[in-house]
Amino acid sequence: MARIVMKFGGTSMAGTERIRRVAGLVRRQAAPKEDGAGDEVAVVVSAMAGETDRLVNFCREANASYDPAEYDVVVSSGEQVTSGLLAITLQGLGCRARSWLGWQLPIRTAEAHAKARIAAIDGAALGAAMAAGEIAVIPGFQGVSDEGRVTTLGRGGSDTSAVAIAAAVGADRCDIYTDVDGVYTTDPRIVAKARKLKAVTYEEMLELASVGAKVLQTRSVGLAMKEGVRVQVLSSFTSDEDAAADTLPGTLIVSEEEMNRLVEDGTMERQLVTGIAHDKNEAKLILTRVPDRPGAVAHIFAPLAAAHINVDMIIQNVGRDKGETDVTFTVPQSDLPRAQALLEDKREEIGFGRIISDSRIAKISVVGVGMKSHAGVAATMFRALADRGINIQAISTSEIKVSVMIDEDETELAVRVLHTAYGLDAKD
Ligand code: ADP
Ligand code: ASP
Ligand code: MG
Repeated sequence: MARIVMKFGGTSMAGTERIRRVAGLVRRQAAPKEDGAGDEVAVVVSAMAGETDRLVNFCREANASYDPAEYDVVVSSGEQVTSGLLAITLQGLGCRARSWLGWQLPIRTAEAHAKARIAAIDGAALGAAMAAGEIAVIPGFQGVSDEGRVTTLGRGGSDTSAVAIAAAVGADRCDIYTDVDGVYTTDPRIVAKARKLKAVTYEEMLELASVGAKVLQTRSVGLAMKEGVRVQVLSSFTSDEDAAADTLPGTLIVSEEEMNRLVEDGTMERQLVTGIAHDKNEAKLILTRVPDRPGAVAHIFAPLAAAHINVDMIIQNVGRDKGETDVTFTVPQSDLPRAQALLEDKREEIGFGRIISDSRIAKISVVGVGMKSHAGVAATMFRALADRGINIQAISTSEIKVSVMIDEDETELAVRVLHTAYGLDAKD
């Protein structure tokens, strides 16, 4: 007998028929095994596909500068619906099941509405219910603030809810069911030749998620790494004849030690590059004619940091005449208007010529722990892109990642070209 947390994403929960399929998977997991006992199961669910977008739009239509606390009341409702529906469906299949909303557990959160962080989960009641053989169904994405108000965890946050619950109840595994059957070398919807990975390290998955591989929310991976939660990504679009989750048909997120063992026993091949991700959600800002002197750059970035705007890639161009230079950087597209307004406000202090903005950019990143010990990954990237005439506008690197900024229209081409250049294409 094991304790398992199962999480189902939006496409898995999209409508009565899909929910019935999910209920079948949950019942199978909780059913008595050969040794007699069934697994103790908690299920975390997302809203039906498209529902959260619909709710966000209602908020925008109601009032463009909506109160984030009320936004949370609205957008968290999609998960309340699916958690109740799944509990009802499970009961219809003869299972004992009940829903537990974020405030009922409670899932305590800190910081801002709309992007709250889980601070603590009391796993006692939940653990007791699971141990008594009742399936707990929990809406993902939501929690409760110290003031007793509903909060949400940021888009894609149900993954983080699932991992946090797995940590709170000491689960043996957290299975993240989605619409693809694992983590691939790149988004399989863009590159048909993408290969499924049997395992990927926490560190690489964290980096891949943070540069745009939306299969897992970045925070969920960080939390799994910190709490040592065993995570599997797998598909809910299966039939009863397909392998059960316990046989690990999906992708496991593992520690570096476990990865080394998998490489040694021949389960995994050591690759220089593990995966490629793209992100179209950033925007580029150029400040022209900034004074080329100490403190100028600090004047630009201090107000952005104070407003919690994340600056990603930065380039300060070589100085030109009259001791002036151009500074280029990227911010999330959703923060672009705010960033522009803040910088305009500080025009005197910073002393720049013009602000030029461009949302039609994309960031393409290659990730792999192999880069720590091997040179040449960046050079291969630049050559492969140059050979296809793709212009690089900015570059940034970390120990296990190289990113470039390019024109948004060239995103798909760049991902495909790089996938081939690093030898990641699946054999026909
Ligand atoms: P869910 O609704 O189940 O949370 P998401 O849409 O958030 O699902 O995440 C699954 C999607 O992530 C897939 O449909 C796929 O297009 C995308 N994706 C991006 N990068 C990858 C990758 N490297 N491997 C697998 N899927 C990826
Ligand atoms: N429904 C939420 C969203 O779309 C949370 C999630 O699905 O993970 O962002
Ligand atoms: Mg998701």
